[in-house]
Amino acid sequence: PEVELQEVESPYNSKSVSREGRLLDEGEEASSASKLQAWFQLPNGEWQLGKINKSSGADTVLSLPNGQVVSPKTETLLPANPEILDGVDDLMQLSYLNEPSVLYNLQYRYSRDMIYTKAGPVLVAVNPFKEVHLYGKRFIERYKRKSMDSPHVYGIADAAIKEMLRGDIKVEFVLTCRIGESGAGKTETAKIAMQYLAALGGGSGIENEILQTNPILEAFGNAKTLRNDNSSRFGKLIEIHFNSAGKISGALIQTCKVVQCAVGERSYHIFYQLLAGASLPLKEKLNLKNVQDYKYLNQSTCYSIPGIDDADRFRSVQEAMNVVHISKENQDLVFSMLAAVLWLGNVSFIVIDNEDHVELVQDEGAQTVASLIGCDVDDLNLALTTRKMKVSNESIVQKLTFSQALDARDALAKSLYASLFDWLVGQINKSLAVGKACTGKSISILDIYGFESFNKNSFEQFCINYANERLQQHFNRHLFKLEQEEYVQDGIDWTKVEFEDNQDCLNLFEKKPLGLLSLLDEESTFPNGTDLTLANKLKQHLSSNSCFRGERGKSFAVQHYAGEVAYDTTGFLEKNRDLLHMDSIQLLSSCNCSLPQIFASKMLEQSDNMPPNPYRTTVADCQKLSVATKFKGQLFQLMQRLENTTPHFIRCIKPNNSQLPSIYEQALVLQQLRCCGVLEVVRISRSGYPTRMSHQKFAKRYGFLLLESAASQEPLSVSIAILQQFNILPDMYQVGYTKLFFRTGQIGALEETRNRT
Ligand code: ATP
Ligand code: MG
Repeated sequence: PEVELQEVESPYNSKSVSREGRLLDEGEEASSASKLQAWFQLPNGEWQLGKINKSSGADTVLSLPNGQVVSPKTETLLPANPEILDGVDDLMQLSYLNEPSVLYNLQYRYSRDMIYTKAGPVLVAVNPFKEVHLYGKRFIERYKRKSMDSPHVYGIADAAIKEMLRGDIKVEFVLTCRIGESGAGKTETAKIAMQYLAALGGGSGIENEILQTNPILEAFGNAKTLRNDNSSRFGKLIEIHFNSAGKISGALIQTCKVVQCAVGERSYHIFYQLLAGASLPLKEKLNLKNVQDYKYLNQSTCYSIPGIDDADRFRSVQEAMNVVHISKENQDLVFSMLAAVLWLGNVSFIVIDNEDHVELVQDEGAQTVASLIGCDVDDLNLALTTRKMKVSNESIVQKLTFSQALDARDALAKSLYASLFDWLVGQINKSLAVGKACTGKSISILDIYGFESFNKNSFEQFCINYANERLQQHFNRHLFKLEQEEYVQDGIDWTKVEFEDNQDCLNLFEKKPLGLLSLLDEESTFPNGTDLTLANKLKQHLSSNSCFRGERGKSFAVQHYAGEVAYDTTGFLEKNRDLLHMDSIQLLSSCNCSLPQIFASKMLEQSDNMPPNPYRTTVADCQKLSVATKFKGQLFQLMQRLENTTPHFIRCIKPNNSQLPSIYEQALVLQQLRCCGVLEVVRISRSGYPTRMSHQKFAKRYGFLLLESAASQEPLSVSIAILQQFNILPDMYQVGYTKLFFRTGQIGALEETRNRT
């Protein structure tokens, strides 16, 4: 029965439909044997594959999989690919490149556990949320021998190694996910890539050390969030160095983090692992209690992760620390610092006068902290309840109020943890240090926290999403901008493929003096600045930017490439100031325990290098850079390292929000594909000219194959003669001012003949 269906508006303009192909000519009837198919969009936005019964130009009659027959306007339909193209390896092979076809192709593969698909130069990885049998020795061997070439992280890693060994370029291997959805699989994919590099470049044993850095850094840097049970709260670039024989000679890890305390359900894994897995003597030594006994952990009710045994993980972390040569003594110090952080949360204060001034309560919490970091309880009291200041060259001591003392305590805990993390990375880098035989050949893997958008978004999301904007630009530059600029510069006939440029959004963050980061820093230095004055200031200065939208009260929204995110400025100033008082730093340097001393000297080093802050009235305050500025600095350093390398991109896609296998939510995937510009990448690669060679090089390389010598010895004439002799069709290449540009697969025959000759 024919049903009346609400007319659906096609998201595609007619231009793109006609470019992508035609359905049937007017009045044409599809023969029943090979019925043509087309994509029909249901009112809920979902696409269904229908068989075309009849088309009369403006209207088409279509039967849907459930037997329903519909007659939509032809222009609302999109052409579907013939069945023979179902599940192709590379989206470039699709005859019709439209969103439903791409969605369908990925889903077709996903449901058969083929989670990797090429989109031209980019590898798309759809998170299976279950074990898929695609990894391990057998598969590594196959990719190494090239007996397997279906899209895979191994394949990309292999190409990167070959490229690196062939040339003198640095090969960068970027793992990033456009929409950067948290939980899309970036960290897992990074580990799979490392596995391949370790297998091919292994031998000296250092590869195992490199692999063992993962459990350590994940324990200290990852936490369970609402989106991902193992969410990275730091960004990481690992540079793996190779010697001239292609063996791993060392590695260097660089991190970039914002988040001082975990958001979401659980804090950093290591706290729970320590409490669950410490041996009895260690428990006694550190005076460890149950998870519920620590204020920093019992604010949330989530203490465990389904399917994860924290005690077991603790043993793995200890084992990994052994592998990367962190001595038993140092390991004990690390655990003492963790316990000190936990116990700091339990330190409390009592009001001693009617001005809200406080004293430290000298209970178990305070005693334990003092003994763990190696100081007197009285000194701990002074550091957390008073502030020494110099006012016009006179030293005065100011007593802190209850809430100031709590802030001082939390700042100390956070900086202890942050220092511990940095120290660990430093120790690991020492152990993996690239020897003297450094060849400059390296492959880097970047794994950064994904784009985040929760119901309530705070300072952490603000920084994380800013970092993702930067990466997005890196991706755009490489895949769209530079590529197309080269065509235009060399004067070839090229119709520009448009892509979402996120420069406006980056300007919104970075512009000086009127950008989000500058305004945030400025407000952070005003003694009377509050989260509300910050929000008002942003609204006052930024409302004209199309990526900014002021919201009610303390909120504002940013139009990110991956969607709009509303931020709540509550806590922004405090988190950005990150005031660790000089008193606390001095306390740490006076401790008779080596780690606090090391931490303190690092902090002092940092503050010495800072330009004086004109807004600060109290010189005794540690004049540190704001958190956001420091973060931006780290991010720029990271990006700079990326700029000089050849990137390979892997885009991780999250198929559902439930972290469950076999669920493929079309709308969610589509949103991510759109953000990554996957279709545009394929379009450019397909219509573009990925192979290029200068006239000179081409003439030199293939000139000797000419049967008749060319009319002139001039490189361009020689080149044209070669092209004609080999019958390379005119639409397969273009002649630029300096180079010849070829579509994929055109040079193959020439190379073959050359090798045979
Ligand atoms: P975040 O931005 O929060 O750090 P992420 O993109 O790094 O997220 P992962 O931690 O790599 O996400 O992946 C989340 C989870 O998805 C993993 O813990 C694992 O359960 C599953 N997963 C991801 N990739 C794979 C894979 N190739 N095979 C099996 N499971 C996977
Ligand atoms: Mg991660």
